[in-house]
Amino acid sequence: MLDAPLLPRGRQVDFTTLAPERWAPDFATPFNQRMIGGKVLVTNDFGDWLLLTPDEFCSFVEGRPQPGEPLYEKLRGASFIAKAVDIAAQAQRWRRKKQYLFHGPTLHGFVLTHRCNLVCQYCHSSVVGMERTDTDMSREVAERAVDLAFQSTARGLTIEFQGGEPTANWDVLRHVVEYATHKNRGIGKVLSFALVTNLTLMDDERLAFLLDHKVQICTSLDGPADLHNKIRVFKGGNSHEMLVYWMRKINERYREMGLDTNHYRVEALPTITRPSLSRWKEIVDEFVAVGCRAIFLRKLDPFGFAARSAKTLGYSMDEYLEFYANTVDYIIELNRQGVQVMERHAAIMLNKILIDEEPNFLDLRTPGGACIGQLGYAPDGGVYSSDEGRFVAAMGDDMFRIGSVDDDYRQLMTSAATRALVMAGLNDAQPDCVSCVYKPWCGQQVEYNYKTQGSIHGHMRDSNWCKKHKSVFDYLMHKLASADESDMEMFRRWTTNRTLDHFIVQ
Ligand code: SF4
Repeated sequence: MLDAPLLPRGRQVDFTTLAPERWAPDFATPFNQRMIGGKVLVTNDFGDWLLLTPDEFCSFVEGRPQPGEPLYEKLRGASFIAKAVDIAAQAQRWRRKKQYLFHGPTLHGFVLTHRCNLVCQYCHSSVVGMERTDTDMSREVAERAVDLAFQSTARGLTIEFQGGEPTANWDVLRHVVEYATHKNRGIGKVLSFALVTNLTLMDDERLAFLLDHKVQICTSLDGPADLHNKIRVFKGGNSHEMLVYWMRKINERYREMGLDTNHYRVEALPTITRPSLSRWKEIVDEFVAVGCRAIFLRKLDPFGFAARSAKTLGYSMDEYLEFYANTVDYIIELNRQGVQVMERHAAIMLNKILIDEEPNFLDLRTPGGACIGQLGYAPDGGVYSSDEGRFVAAMGDDMFRIGSVDDDYRQLMTSAATRALVMAGLNDAQPDCVSCVYKPWCGQQVEYNYKTQGSIHGHMRDSNWCKKHKSVFDYLMHKLASADESDMEMFRRWTTNRTLDHFIVQ
């Protein structure tokens, strides 16, 4: 536990220093506030924000700025002056950012098997041994899952192969790619495939199939060889060596295919465990060395084996946040030296803060992604609210099973369970979130709330979910408050989003 957290923390404004009789409630649009260093951060529901000096903030809440004055124009430009808000323009803006509400789920996670040849100490999926072929998804169930996914009203569909190790059920993976591609010829969705794999069962023939069918490949890399192999235990060899071999080979194949290697690379994610905490620098260096441009500092979540191994691999939220700040500080330092690498979580938040984009990251949107952003398909045909929903199921609790592949899509989407999960995933339904300065950019994960606090609604004041996001937003806001022009250019570069068109099948 830290005595003095490295992360600069924000705090609420002390309103007792402001005279209530002088407040002008009609002057401002509804806003929330938080002290960031010596400045007052104000945000509104449109997603605008300003860092004001304490004097400017007093003048603002007292309604003193006059048209033509710099402060008035600054407030007006950020939609903080009620009578100057262009409602029609804001409605358009709202619609653009909330476009994910106008269609059904885009992400469809196919759990092709619960088997895995690795025994990762933190596995969130509660995998079983390779002999348990009874946990494989059959071709018939897979086809019905594809049929259900295609009923989504979303124009874009991503079928993501998960496990266990999904390549252990290779014939069904292959069949899903061919079946969905064929089916789409008469439908015309913007279809893509993604594979989450440990790469230990890869061979040249399989790679050729994946590249030919434009399947995006994502993997897990926990850091240098000793750290990776210690956590991601593989009795059949050196999992780190095999991983790096295949990552380099795939990146080389992308290059040979003429793809821009600035954007087309194998995506790798680390899972942060206790042994990772002191090794932030080596982890970043390892990612850069194997050709990654992005690192997602994924925290250990209370699902699957991670719940069992929390005593040896777990850590407090303060310890994670110290690790996060050390790592991102180092990433920023590398960027200043010309190395292009970013932290994915920060990049998602900066997209919202700096360029007013909604990247539709399902854990950080409101309502959350359960059911209406993603669906998870288990080998037995069960349909779950999300990845995390089926992680909870693998722990013996079917709370998030909303139906099966034989159900009607409309019934699934309008069921009482789906509606309850969507309602619980709204920031506007959370007592603490409604008065939080980060509400316009934050989000909920109902499965995490349920697993950690026993209720899909959670209780943000005592929630590690909230603490993590509030602290990372605080960290970024302090960085933005002190950034010079070259740092701002770096942060804006992190927000550059390019559609990876190559992976669109049709
Ligand atoms: S979860 Fe926490 S940080 Fe996020 S909006 Fe709610 S109160 Fe704020």
